[in-house]
Amino acid sequence: MKESPWKINIATITEDGLDLSPELGEDWFQTWQEEVPNLDFAGPGAISGTVHMERHGREIFLHGHLEGTLALSCSRCLAAYDARVETDFDLLLEPGPEPVVPEEELTAEELDLDFYQGDVVDLEKYLREQILLMMPLKPLCAESCRGICPRCGADLNHEPCRCPEERPLSPLAAALEKLKK
Ligand SMILES: [Zn+2]
Ligand SMILES: [Zn+2]
Repeated sequence: MKESPWKINIATITEDGLDLSPELGEDWFQTWQEEVPNLDFAGPGAISGTVHMERHGREIFLHGHLEGTLALSCSRCLAAYDARVETDFDLLLEPGPEPVVPEEELTAEELDLDFYQGDVVDLEKYLREQILLMMPLKPLCAESCRGICPRCGADLNHEPCRCPEERPLSPLAAALEKLKK
């Protein structure tokens, strides 16, 4: 196994900071999908960005920006499409695994607190987390997507519904319907 370029020894993070420019392409997404088989991706994405890390003692501040496309499946018509995504994030990393102070004493309210093990920050873990956070809960290929007819299965973006038109009730049947209510 080759050494992951995302495992950063904290000794290499100075107070001036360490800057990285992740380029997450096909190979990276494929490895992820092999390791975590039930991810909701329709295929590999293409994400790039910047990560700036600063260390103060054993506390590490991480600011990142990621943008690009994710291959998703539309929740209405099931078609694969490329979703444009973008995020800025700030993380405070503390040596783990246990929080060293009780939750309520944490001062950095606006920073997300996370933990790293030993002397190594596994940046990949945080990049994956941020990408999952960017995934829409209800992916849509287009706001106007008409989806699939639940009865005949027609993709209404490309073909008309094949369901038989509902026939109007005869006057007698309509009268009986009314009586039932
Ligand atoms: Zn759709
Ligand atoms: Zn139909």
